[in-house]
Amino acid sequence: MAKYNDAKCRICRREGAKLFLKGDRCFTDKCAQDRRPYAPGQHGRARKKLSEYALMLREKQKVRRMYGVLEKQFRGYFYSSDMAKGVTGENLLKTLERRLDNVVYRMGFANSRAQARQLVRHGIFTLNGHKVDIPSLQVKVGDVIVVNEKNRKIPVIADAQGAIARRGCPVWLEVDGAAFKGIVKALPQRDDIQTPINESFIVELYSK
Ligand code: SF4
Repeated sequence: MAKYNDAKCRICRREGAKLFLKGDRCFTDKCAQDRRPYAPGQHGRARKKLSEYALMLREKQKVRRMYGVLEKQFRGYFYSSDMAKGVTGENLLKTLERRLDNVVYRMGFANSRAQARQLVRHGIFTLNGHKVDIPSLQVKVGDVIVVNEKNRKIPVIADAQGAIARRGCPVWLEVDGAAFKGIVKALPQRDDIQTPINESFIVELYSK
């Protein structure tokens, strides 16, 4: 994953939406998008009417940045979603939700998707009893994700488990916090994704 070194809150402000990139801070009154809900930079406050293309591009960038996926991989997700049965835009969002790093974040074992990706990379989780270190892996129904016993005292895991009460766990996942275990009960549905996203813009952008 290429590294973005600038302030993460600038991404939210650029996309004009809370993308929850900084864990617990996003739920406090320190959230930059809540405090300064306009684009960053000298001309951020200037009202600009976006062209149709710019609207589609911004929507794509918003989703890509929210899940922390690079352009090439995102485009790959789009093409496989387009070829799969069903509505392309919904397929795309469901594919992104099924990434292992997102599932770890949703289960409350990490404070953000970026942190989840790092923890997965460090191999601190097992998937169905086997060590995994691939953040992009797609989970299936019945998959069991467990934090390795020797890594359960890592402070970020304890912090994240405390934060899940505020964030809530989606209905398609089941978490046993005491056992550091999560189960994928069902595949995610479109309604399970709460962030306002107009996926049809992304489909239009890539179909041009
Ligand atoms: Fe985005 Fe979180 Fe920063 Fe708010 S605190 S602007 S939601 S990254």
